[in-house]
Amino acid sequence: MSTENIRANLERVRERIARAAERAGRRPSDVLLIGVSKTVDIDRIREAIDAGVPALGENRVQEAKAKIAALGRPVPWHLIGHLQTNKVKDALPLVRTEAGGFDKSGVRDIDPLFDVIHSLDRFALAEAIEKRLAETRRVVDTMVEVNLAAESSKSGIAPDALPALLDGLVGLPHVRVRGLMAIPPAGAPGDARQWFRALRKLAEAHGLSELSMGMSADFEIAIEEGATVVRVGTAIFGARAAAA
Ligand SMILES: *Cc1c(COP(=O)(O)O)cnc(C)c1O
Repeated sequence: MSTENIRANLERVRERIARAAERAGRRPSDVLLIGVSKTVDIDRIREAIDAGVPALGENRVQEAKAKIAALGRPVPWHLIGHLQTNKVKDALPLVRTEAGGFDKSGVRDIDPLFDVIHSLDRFALAEAIEKRLAETRRVVDTMVEVNLAAESSKSGIAPDALPALLDGLVGLPHVRVRGLMAIPPAGAPGDARQWFRALRKLAEAHGLSELSMGMSADFEIAIEEGATVVRVGTAIFGARAAAA
């Protein structure tokens, strides 16, 4: 795909976001567009950055690590895929700061690969993040992923279990919950509306302001239903290879 296509695709997606926001009486600037760059090579991601993509999303820590090493952080990176507890260390790498005073090692800060983790779905993961950050001043922004339809193929916490998880997270000062994230069950794009509405209700019930919902096939519906973050891959970068 040529540079021009990525630029033109991005422009079109932004126009569609703006129109959907206007239909819902919202401001386009209230919706963050994440360009989902999983499986996309570095040159094409750079084209998207040059064309002004506001943020990037990856679903695998190792893949993101290589890309962030190559591209740096001209825009925020979001982790949108499942995070294994044993990958927390990789997602939140230690950096060596100047040693001083009693801090002989000099290793005392964390340089997170990701600005936001969208896949917080269990207390054990939050505890692992808390432990990693405990001795730093870093606080990581997270979205709690909800498995709205109790699909066994998907991660995410059951809606019933959400209140207890949120209560527990209050005790973890380095983990800040900003909102909820969901991937609705597969179906016609129109079917997603009820799920987006359900996620919004859950977020409102818990006083959470951010809603990460909507992908290439349904981001306009998500925005009509209150999405503050949309995760769009195919509509910007084109179709991915199978099994991506
Ligand atoms: C791949 C992916 C997306 C983007 O999907 P498209 O249909 O290509 O827009 C969004 N969210 C998550 C969690 C994904 O894994």
